Amino acid sequence: MIDTHCHIYVPQFTDDLSEVLDRAFEAGITDIVMPSIDLTSKAAMAAMHHDRIRFHPMAGIHPCDVKGTIEETALWKWAHEPDVVGIGESGLDYYWSSDYIPEQKDSFRFHCRLARELNKPLVIHNRESTFDMLAILEEEQDGRLRGIWHCFNGSSDEGKTAIDLGFHLGIGGVVTFKNGGVDKTLTDLPLDCLVLETDAPYLAPAPHRGKRNEPAYTQLVGIKLSAIYEKSLAEIDAITTETARNLFNI
Ligand SMILES: [Zn+2]
Repeated sequence: MIDTHCHIYVPQFTDDLSEVLDRAFEAGITDIVMPSIDLTSKAAMAAMHHDRIRFHPMAGIHPCDVKGTIEETALWKWAHEPDVVGIGESGLDYYWSSDYIPEQKDSFRFHCRLARELNKPLVIHNRESTFDMLAILEEEQDGRLRGIWHCFNGSSDEGKTAIDLGFHLGIGGVVTFKNGGVDKTLTDLPLDCLVLETDAPYLAPAPHRGKRNEPAYTQLVGIKLSAIYEKSLAEIDAITTETARNLFNI
């Protein structure tokens, strides 16, 4: 099982990192894909180690950290490194950060360009900005762009639009929330377009909602999907893991 979106390198895990990773391995996690937040994430991600789990960094600048023109040259160089499996997380966030919307859009387009030119998947963060996000993807798609709409919580029509644009949907703890609505949306969307994620340390699934999230809880997301799609956890694991391996080439 793969946690395709986990900020395991942040200070919230410093004190008990090895226990967190042991629990993840016991819950079936073999690979953790790490979206970066800014250029300083690189060193923190490189320090991750566990005997049985593989770590895969991405290169990107989170939209909430866009406070002007981004350091394109440094990001360009970093994204080219062979261990970088994806571009992100990038995207738009009008909820937490509405002061720099034009700059967020410029940054998002730059990440789209990187993903296209390097043939690496783009991992998208989107909050209260779905219309603009999909419009930019449509403009930037030239047949080469692919990736994941992380923490998907749109409508089934928005999900289908993203899938038609060549994207997959990252499903995390929100699918387990009462009244979250994602579980109902998913019945209209194909399982082979989904990947599992936690977004740890944020958005812990039920029954841990409100507490620190961790990669072992990917399994709880898988269990919820097994109820929605009426398949065993092993089948959900096999299908979503294959999708994630193909996307990130890991
Ligand atoms: Zn994230």
